[in-house]
Amino acid sequence: MEIINNNKYYVFNSYIRKDKITNQNSKNNFLNFKNYSSTNTSYLSFKGSQKVPFTDEDYKNAKKNIQLLIQEAKKKKPNHSYFNLYDLDNLERINGIQKGIKVFDGLTINEIAFILKSPKVLLNRCCSNNCIHCAYMATPSSNKTLDKMSYEDFVSLIDGISELQNRVGENIIIADSIGTFYDSDCMEIELKDRNGNVYDYIDCIELLNSKKFSPPIFDTSGWNPKSEKHQKRAEKFVEYLQKPQNSRKISQFNISINPFHIIFAKAMELKSKFRFIKAKKMEENYVDRMANMLFTFTPLQDTDVQWGVLARAIPGNKSKYNYNALYRIQIKIIDALAKRYKQDLIGERKFVKNSSDINKYLDFYKRIIMGTEEYPSFDPIGRAESLFTDSEIENPLEERKQAMIKGLDNGNIKYYARLINPNGKILLLNDDISVTTDLELNFENKGKAVKPFANQITEYIYTAQSEEDK
Ligand code: SF4
Repeated sequence: MEIINNNKYYVFNSYIRKDKITNQNSKNNFLNFKNYSSTNTSYLSFKGSQKVPFTDEDYKNAKKNIQLLIQEAKKKKPNHSYFNLYDLDNLERINGIQKGIKVFDGLTINEIAFILKSPKVLLNRCCSNNCIHCAYMATPSSNKTLDKMSYEDFVSLIDGISELQNRVGENIIIADSIGTFYDSDCMEIELKDRNGNVYDYIDCIELLNSKKFSPPIFDTSGWNPKSEKHQKRAEKFVEYLQKPQNSRKISQFNISINPFHIIFAKAMELKSKFRFIKAKKMEENYVDRMANMLFTFTPLQDTDVQWGVLARAIPGNKSKYNYNALYRIQIKIIDALAKRYKQDLIGERKFVKNSSDINKYLDFYKRIIMGTEEYPSFDPIGRAESLFTDSEIENPLEERKQAMIKGLDNGNIKYYARLINPNGKILLLNDDISVTTDLELNFENKGKAVKPFANQITEYIYTAQSEEDK
């Protein structure tokens, strides 16, 4: 991390997982997932967890036992004052504390703790960027499935967590951090309520902030500059973050520039087929899109927003998506941005009042976008798998699926992320691979079809079941 003026910025790098890329021929090690002899379920063991409905007596007992639970936790960790719900022993002692919280209806406290271990609330399950390296294989919106969480369900979840937090007191942390997206771009997040009112990402951030949750991340790969709706939304976002009281309501402001965006990738493909005129047009589209994004975000340079740059490339010269390709786009984008600033100076003077402003703004962007020689690569997972040769992939998809199932069978769930789908269903995620569980929140949209994740294990359900039911 470096500090520029008052702005902090990050360039995400060194995410390459060398353990996953070897020279061995992975096909020799291929294991057939379909031969896996599992009972196709695995059981979460919540010994003693009483199933709902709870009585007033259960609630009173649970309330009484909170201090007991904290005292026990303090004995184990004397220097700690705050404990994550998920990490506490004997949670069943406070089973019933959730009585009457609608979103948790039907769930035991152990199940709630399991779900709320750093959950990712999937506000939006679609992305139109179609990046060819997308680990999550995100696809555009579809009319056939529920793509977005309803605003009512999001409010009910956040209110529910907040209410539970109030009931247990400040020493027990119900949800340490709440993710807000996964296979999506924040510029596309828009939730609707039952009256058709639309809520964008700012509204979601405000809701989280009003309940004192830690600020979420913002990621974008830009938007079509011709889309009035997105342009207005971006300007609204800038206006919002410019206010000192709002600039820290997001933890990180990430802009993504890479040769894998579908528009630029198409340009590269056309070039390789000698269709140079069309390729040039496509490349210009991508460059304009990015220059417009940077121009629009210019005022944020003078705030204490924490910038991040998501830039990706494949090391070496074998791939056309290499550092050179990344560097070439960066230069073109900066050139196009310089033109935008010059036009602004001689025209509207929206941001640029004099020529030193141009240098100041360009310098900032050059430093955060091009200020590193070590550009990051990425794992050959999700759509990115097709960008690597077999010999470069140590763990092919089917092997990774089996490894996850084995991990689940051994109760090795600690590092798997919890995903909350727009219908309230809970999934577990490991890199690009997901598994459904039988847990679900009591959402109004419960039971509605949500599109499956591309690398979702379908033959296996991770099942939560109390010890008595076994
Ligand atoms: S990498 Fe991000 S922006 Fe690109 S398709 Fe996937 S979710 Fe969308």
